Amino acid sequence: MTPEILTIPCLADNYTFLMHDAASGTTALFDAPEPFPVTRALEERGWALDKVFLTHHHWDHVDGLPELRDEYRPQVIGAAADTSRLPALDRSVSEGGTVSVGTIEGTVFDVSGHTNGHVAFYFPTAKALFTGDSLMALGCGRLFEGDAETMWNSLSKLAALPPETKVYSGHEYTAANAKFALTIEPDNAALQARIRDITENRAKGIPTVPSTLADELATNPFLRASVPQVKAGLGMENAPDALVFAKIRQMKDNF
Ligand code: ZN
Ligand code: FE
Repeated sequence: MTPEILTIPCLADNYTFLMHDAASGTTALFDAPEPFPVTRALEERGWALDKVFLTHHHWDHVDGLPELRDEYRPQVIGAAADTSRLPALDRSVSEGGTVSVGTIEGTVFDVSGHTNGHVAFYFPTAKALFTGDSLMALGCGRLFEGDAETMWNSLSKLAALPPETKVYSGHEYTAANAKFALTIEPDNAALQARIRDITENRAKGIPTVPSTLADELATNPFLRASVPQVKAGLGMENAPDALVFAKIRQMKDNF
């Protein structure tokens, strides 16, 4: 049975997600920007909160945890590599580790780059990938801690997942990301079409998250550093993919 997944806006432009496995009555949260929108969604549906998965240590992904912990006593799961900065974990995981939400099984990816110790959670039967600030809709997180090669390796792991995978990322940055993406590939028809959808959805207040991995592969400049046309557009035909990625990331930082 596929779980129900809710996209919940928090703070100015964050998202958190509730995944509910009806078969077992289990509910999990992915990142905790703030408590109130989460408790409201749980109460509306009569769900308890059994688990909280944390992608990385930044305040806008963890600051809602203490109140949720007090109220629901969930099991809190995060990266073994970052226990010194994350809130106290009940379970620490690393790349290749297995996790579950009731009957829904998942695996852990190390996607360091935005921070070191950033993880993503992938649930194949749910076709759901929770990426925090690693792979984002038409973007990727800034390189606060890792270098470009680390982030390129992280993104490449996610890019290899089935294209129908839904990408649940941590922020509504998509419209701004789209403006930048167009400067990299002004003639990308899939990108132009996606931007029309994004503009329409944002005008109605509809989240652009989740996206699909297929959409990201076709339009996200940070996943397309290996594409010959993208390299040629930057005058980097013969450069290694990671170097092209580094260039695109640097251009976005200065955009
Ligand atoms: Zn972050
Ligand atoms: Fe963030």
